[in-house]
Amino acid sequence: RGEEGSALLSFNQVSLRYQPGLPLALNAVSFHLQRQERLAVVGRTGSGKSTLAVALFRLCPLEEGQVLLRGQNLAQLPLDVARRSMGIITQDPVIFSGTVHYNLDPFGEFDAEKCSAALEQAQLAESLELETQIDQAGANLSVGERQLLCLARALLRSPKLLVCDEATSSVDAITDAQVQKCLRNAVRTFDASLLTIAHRLVTVADYDKVMLLQAGQVKEFDSPGKL
Ligand code: ATP
Ligand code: MG
Repeated sequence: RGEEGSALLSFNQVSLRYQPGLPLALNAVSFHLQRQERLAVVGRTGSGKSTLAVALFRLCPLEEGQVLLRGQNLAQLPLDVARRSMGIITQDPVIFSGTVHYNLDPFGEFDAEKCSAALEQAQLAESLELETQIDQAGANLSVGERQLLCLARALLRSPKLLVCDEATSSVDAITDAQVQKCLRNAVRTFDASLLTIAHRLVTVADYDKVMLLQAGQVKEFDSPGKL
């Protein structure tokens, strides 16, 4: 099928359980995400939304099925190669104590100019500089700034897929809108695709596709207007 052939990301009948004896957290999940497409994933707590990221980042082996990125089976790629083409912004971003520069590029892989550009793209250039010191766990940053710093770190690596586990109540609507705007720009700038685990209705409304999960299964997959 054409849709599948050109997809940036495909889940093909993916089933995953966290441990033997536990129920399936994902149960035969299939969907495709095209280049520059933005997919919002919704569903009740425990429905398997974050487990999609677990499957993507290979934090737990699949019981069945495949995840394909640009037609390549993720399970057959070296782990670092598989992860390098994806960026993730979680609800609880990992922030190191040290400079902003260190947070963006702990292994010194990029030049300072590129790091500054990433800060700019994540709309952080006005509030932070590369030499700004960050306290342990980002204590001197707001939750929104931590997310944007995480986004800047992901953008530095020109990801083909961005995964965002949208923050819940701890982030105000303005910050949330700011993060969404940066994500949208990133999709264009990097020719990337976006998978957002959405907790806010406003997020869903402006996405290309919405997927509803229920007990680890895909219940709906359509454009937001049709749901
Ligand atoms: P929320 O909206 O609360 O974030 P979610 O849709 O992201 O929920 P998941 O975290 O994907 O839900 O969890 C799906 C199922 O897998 C749940 O039943 C959950 O209890 C279970 N689960 C999640 N993480 C683990 C884990 N590390 N070990 C065992 N079971 C887990
Ligand atoms: Mg979750």
